[in-house]
Amino acid sequence: MKFSQLAQYIQKIEETSSRLIITEHLATLFKNLETTEIKITTYLLQGRIAPLYEAVEFGMAEKMIKKAVCRGLNLDCKLFDTRYKKIGDLGKTVEEFKKEIKSLDEKDLSIYEVFESLYSVATASGAGSQDLKINHLAHLVRNLDPLACRYLVRIPLGVMRLGFSDMTVLDALSWMINGNKSLRPIIEKAYHVRPDLGFIAELVKRQGVTNLKKVLPTVFTPILMMRAERLPSGKEIIEKIGKCAVESKYDGFRLQAHYSRKKQEVRLYSRNLENVTFMYPDLVDGIQKEVKANEIIIEGEAIGFDPDTANFLPFQETVQRKRKYGIEKMAKEVPLKLFCFELLYKDGKSFINSPYIERKKNLEKSLKLTGDAAKDMILIAEETITDDTKQLEILFEDALSKGLEGIIAKKLDGIYQAGARGWNWIKFKRSYSAKIEDTIDCLIMGYDFGKGKRAGFGIGAFLVGIFDESKDKFVTVAKIGTGLSDNEWRTLKTQSIKLKTPKKPNQYEVDKAMDCDVWLLPQTVVEIKADEITRSPVHTAGRKLKPTKSGNAFEVDEPGFALRFPRLQRFRDDKRAEDITSLKEVEKMFKAQFKHS
Ligand code: AMP
Repeated sequence: MKFSQLAQYIQKIEETSSRLIITEHLATLFKNLETTEIKITTYLLQGRIAPLYEAVEFGMAEKMIKKAVCRGLNLDCKLFDTRYKKIGDLGKTVEEFKKEIKSLDEKDLSIYEVFESLYSVATASGAGSQDLKINHLAHLVRNLDPLACRYLVRIPLGVMRLGFSDMTVLDALSWMINGNKSLRPIIEKAYHVRPDLGFIAELVKRQGVTNLKKVLPTVFTPILMMRAERLPSGKEIIEKIGKCAVESKYDGFRLQAHYSRKKQEVRLYSRNLENVTFMYPDLVDGIQKEVKANEIIIEGEAIGFDPDTANFLPFQETVQRKRKYGIEKMAKEVPLKLFCFELLYKDGKSFINSPYIERKKNLEKSLKLTGDAAKDMILIAEETITDDTKQLEILFEDALSKGLEGIIAKKLDGIYQAGARGWNWIKFKRSYSAKIEDTIDCLIMGYDFGKGKRAGFGIGAFLVGIFDESKDKFVTVAKIGTGLSDNEWRTLKTQSIKLKTPKKPNQYEVDKAMDCDVWLLPQTVVEIKADEITRSPVHTAGRKLKPTKSGNAFEVDEPGFALRFPRLQRFRDDKRAEDITSLKEVEKMFKAQFKHS
């Protein structure tokens, strides 16, 4: 397919906010692509040239992209800038100029040719690479038609946000085959094990869904991590899953470690599947020494730990290890241990569908540890198997007294539910005794300019939301204007600069009363503590509308959920927008409040 044809599909997608219509457009596009084109096209639709977990950067700032465009079109940069200032959208500015400059010979490149050039842009490095990048992009701008150019430049610019998530792509793959979403669950299951949309799309296009069950984990493709359900007491946990293995809930950060002896390589992935290997040279070293396998995928929680006192470091100290610079120095100041609790794959065998007991037993066999916590880099998360409520509560209190967060109870025959929040793991944390049981992970959707003291920071209040999975939309729960330290306001402002967007993103559902001065793209996740979940007509989380009597407008039928006294606990850079608390969870927390009062 030609890239210009792809651009027409993208335009149709961009023009609608209906998830169903987007799904249909994507399905038609997928149907019309060659099998060999679908993989690269799914990447391009996300503004990328590789799966999300591979950090491929184009290395072209806006200025450089403008330079490439002007070189491609033989344009004076000042002229371009004047028009750009007026239009405010780089893609549309290039499109306009392309419409006017007709004399150039366009070659109508294929998707493949465009992908290849963009790939060269991203991989060019060293002396002369800047010029090479500019020339590649200039060549593309010269050869593509106006609409294609609009979308082309958005790719290296990093703003190709078409308002749909990976899940919509999975729906579209089902739609391509069956004309409905019925195959999504089976496609999604494979995607959880291999979250490479391109790989999954090509497999489905080539073989339908028959072989999806055989999709196995593979080293260096991160597996979507399993999450835990929650319950407020030991009694309820035992009632739910019976005899279970109880482990401490370590308050550090989750890592999935991939190791290949043949390649002599370790890669560490964070919860949001980011490759964070470079941050933890000490863990990499430990894994290389302590793993007894040719290939392995294991998971654990990295946390600062003092083997002398057997004390864990508080999260605020452990988190200092998440940094881009000064890594070696900080590794000495805050030494980490990896408390391992999962084996997902070893030497050609997937353990994902094995019962917990078997995974843990094989995990222990896969490590050569001295048993001396001062020497070993990896420690195994200790477990106690019990069906006694009282013992479980004691283990919980014990975990708290060690400075940990609580416990996680694991169902003995439970499988690893990749990418899902499942009842095979149940967390029990201290905050459950409070009125609302947990903190809520929210997305910052926009902000208002500040007045008074906070005018200095440029932000007075920010709007936060949760994720409504049924609608694939972010819906609001609070506007927060107090409780941040000066430093936190500053961090928020700096993080927001590159996320500003002139229009409210399609995926946001916001009441007029909650409109913001500045809208932000869905990226910044914050952990919010609140006293209570109440209901409010101006928040859209779970809100139901009905047509007014006249039928010309809508009125609130059921108010939405809102947070009472919300305050920022911390920034959660380790979470993606898709990982925030869902509407379903908030609904559950809302109901649980009544059980406790
Ligand atoms: P959540 O991801 O919010 O469901 O909460 C569970 C989190 O607890 C996991 O993502 C881990 O980062 C963390 N955790 C700490 N200790 C353990 C453990 N022993 N087993 C599983 N997860 C643990």
